[in-house]
Formats: sequence, structure tokens, C-alpha cells
Amino acid sequence: MASDIKIVEAPDSYSGAGFQATSFDKIIGLARANSLWPLPFATSCCGIEFMSTMASRYDIARFGAERPSFSPRQADVLLVAGTIAKKMAPVLKQVYLQMAEPRWVIAIGACASSGGIFDTYSVLQGIDRIIPVDVYVPGCPPRPEQILDGLMQVQELAKNESLRRRNSSEYQHLLESYNIQ
Ligand code: SF4
Repeated sequence: MASDIKIVEAPDSYSGAGFQATSFDKIIGLARANSLWPLPFATSCCGIEFMSTMASRYDIARFGAERPSFSPRQADVLLVAGTIAKKMAPVLKQVYLQMAEPRWVIAIGACASSGGIFDTYSVLQGIDRIIPVDVYVPGCPPRPEQILDGLMQVQELAKNESLRRRNSSEYQHLLESYNIQ
């Protein structure tokens, strides 16, 4: 009977004997966070540290991210590791734009984050001058543990990502505001 139906406030998740209830976006977030496909954009020494992160000693497969994607269309997280020359900057931006939403960016090391020791006319002084960055990993170079920590921070972002698409026209406007000066 309709009068027997009780409407209760839905909690974030609820578990009891033999069952668990949660919301759809939390399940999608969990799946995304544990199957991030990285696109390594490695230009110099920090790229070697990423190779070590991929290998058996540090074993990035523990985080579900062992499948590097060299096609931006099939990548979730852009790992920029190394010095980015200004001549390379338009290529990096193009790769970023070719990735599907939702997408995340990690700047690995001092060079990607700020230009590092290369404070010179030919080097981009941080990739955040041309694309949005979600996580900065400090170091010259950072240890593999730090790179894994950066990946885990992206996992947290992925868990809380909205299922709605970001407003692409607004986002495009934001991207156009970046330049490589
Ligand atoms: Fe090389 Fe240091 Fe730059 Fe990394 S931050 S690419 S180790 S110079």
C-alpha cells in the first residue's frame, strides 16, 4: 500500500548484512581511479624516473595504471616529465587537446613545473603556462615514490569527478587564454 512507503534520506553509501548501496557516480569514480591510462610525455631525465616507476620494483600496476597510452584519445592522465622547450610547447598543447574528458595532468619534476634550472629564453617556464595542471611533483628528479604519490592524488580527483561533461566552450576559452610567452 502506498501509505506503507517510507521516504528516507539517501546516505552517500549504506551497507548492511549482505548488501551495499551507493550512488552510480561513486562506482564510476572508483572504476576510473583504478584504471587510469597514462600518456607519458617524457622529454629528458625525469622520463627515466617514470620508466623506473613503471618497472617491477615500484610496480605502477598496483594502481591499475600499467597500461601506457601513446594515443591521446585513449589516455586519461598526461604525465609531463622533463624539460619542455618552447618549440615543443604547441605539440604538448595539441596532445592535451586531443585527450577526451575527463583528463588530468601531472607535472613531474622541476622542469615541467617551473622550467627548473633552465631559466632561459628557449625553455617553457612551467607547463601550466599552456595547459591546466592538476598535480605538481617536485624534485630534480623526483623519486618514483613521489611520482606514485602524484598518481594517487589524481586517483582522488578521479573518484570525485562529476559524471557531467565540463562546459567545453567555457573550457576552450580558458585554454585560449594560455600562451607560451
Ligand atoms: Fe632533468 Fe631535473 Fe629537469 Fe627532471 S627536473 S628533467 S631531472 S633537469
